Amino acid sequence: METVSRPEDARYWVLACQDRKERVGLVPTMGALHEGHLSLVRAARNDCERVVVSIFVNPAQFSPGEDLETYPRPRQRDLELCEREGVDLVFEPLRGDMYLPGHSTYVHVEGLSAGLEGAHRPNFFRGVATVVLKLFHILPADVAYFGRKDAQQLAVVRRMVQDLFVPIEIKACPTVREPDGLAMSSRNAYLSPEERAAAPALYQALMAGRRAFLSGARDPAAVTEAARRRLAEEERFLLQYLECVDAETFQPAVAPLSGRELLATAAFLGSTRLIDNIQLQEG
Ligand code: AMP
Repeated sequence: METVSRPEDARYWVLACQDRKERVGLVPTMGALHEGHLSLVRAARNDCERVVVSIFVNPAQFSPGEDLETYPRPRQRDLELCEREGVDLVFEPLRGDMYLPGHSTYVHVEGLSAGLEGAHRPNFFRGVATVVLKLFHILPADVAYFGRKDAQQLAVVRRMVQDLFVPIEIKACPTVREPDGLAMSSRNAYLSPEERAAAPALYQALMAGRRAFLSGARDPAAVTEAARRRLAEEERFLLQYLECVDAETFQPAVAPLSGRELLATAAFLGSTRLIDNIQLQEG
């Protein structure tokens, strides 16, 4: 496995693979890797001759007061995990090489970026779209892998790739969960033991919404109400949003629900912000 930090070296590496007719799969991450990230690596491994993982904690997607400086950065462990998974190249750029002095160009995906995460984290999707497009230029891979755990982010990336004619295929991978249902996240490491014990209630709330749908509720309000009631049982949670949305547009879902809609939520557990989502009807 190789590691490079200079964008020009990374680009040269990818182009050399493609000269040899090797397909390159890219897994963009912020590091602190867990089984969720590794599932994307395995999907890439399965499809492509070469796998690149990028590790970059992207300042542009954090708002003031968020955890940019304290975000976990277990570099050695991340490299070991990549090595073990058969990753070929790890790209770990410096902040100053990704955002040059005087940097002033941003990608804004309108509409999709407005609700849910976008409403609570100003600049988040602008930061994500900007860094992902930079990565796609630096690492012109054939396929890039994203997790459904961040469903709105996936939709924003797909929209950007389509609108800007970026020649890369986007593949979505299912959310990987702990045995108790908690979606894996690098931020789960912030949870105290008591918070960790309470955390699965977020997923259980989504499942309560799904059960309401499966027992016949076709009105979005009935589904979200069932989910909110379940979350309210765990008083440590401070809810930011819990919404039923169209899976493509992220606009509020309308009755009658078809089952293809997403039930998406974000909540604080102490000072840790957790997000999760499920499709109302599995599959
Ligand atoms: P992050 O390092 O949090 O920016 O995530 C990098 C990629 O891993 C994104 O495409 C995420 O959607 C994906 N990811 C994060 N957590 C999970 C999970 N639990 N299951 C599947 N994919 C995930």
